[in-house]
Amino acid sequence: MTDLAERKMRFLFTLRSKRVTDARVLTAMERIDRGEFVRGLFAERAYEDTPLPIACGQTISQPSVVGLMTQALDVSPRDKVLEIGTGSGYQAAILSELARRVYTLDRHKRLVREAEETFARLGITNITAMTADGSHGLPDQAPFDRIIVTAAAEDPPGPLLAQLRIGGIMVLPVGQSDTVQSLIKVTRGPDGYEYDELRPVRFVPLVEGLGQD
Ligand code: SAH
Repeated sequence: MTDLAERKMRFLFTLRSKRVTDARVLTAMERIDRGEFVRGLFAERAYEDTPLPIACGQTISQPSVVGLMTQALDVSPRDKVLEIGTGSGYQAAILSELARRVYTLDRHKRLVREAEETFARLGITNITAMTADGSHGLPDQAPFDRIIVTAAAEDPPGPLLAQLRIGGIMVLPVGQSDTVQSLIKVTRGPDGYEYDELRPVRFVPLVEGLGQD
């Protein structure tokens, strides 16, 4: 086996050992090559279970956390999904394997442009990436079946709660940016919202307004 094939096999083994057990999520993570989303110096570490730096001072999330969040989101093939925090585009690409359509927003124009280039290179056509402050959501396309936020807010942003379809699920980290945050699953029922705390996580903060680049 080549070194690369062996690293990819170990990558999947690590995901399983960290409780990413949903077969559809594992298949999506096998098909979407994380190496395509990490550039420059850090590319050779793409198959390690660790967050890595990307442009604009941001990070591509830890693969096992991507897997656990995707699993908690419980996406079905007909779903319209909103992601806040495009970053490298890795999480959006995994969602694109599981959902009908993915909308992804980032406050950095450069990250959106680079992610779009990666989606085109990989032949992914069901993702719409846009530069926007994701804390307002995407009212034009609401409601969403699923919403995932990959940057930490102190509380779930009101507009995102409002744009979740009844019966929908939102997964997001909440808490102060410089401490440990909690990964939360919000389920919207006919009479209100139900909150489940999943595990401690650490994400870059959700920042208001657009970035410089
Ligand atoms: N999901 C990404 C990792 C996201 S890192 C991946 O798979 O690679 C968090 C991202 O959230 C950063 O790119 C940051 O620019 C973005 N972000 C932070 N605050 C935001 C906001 N208010 N609106 C949109 N994007 C935001």
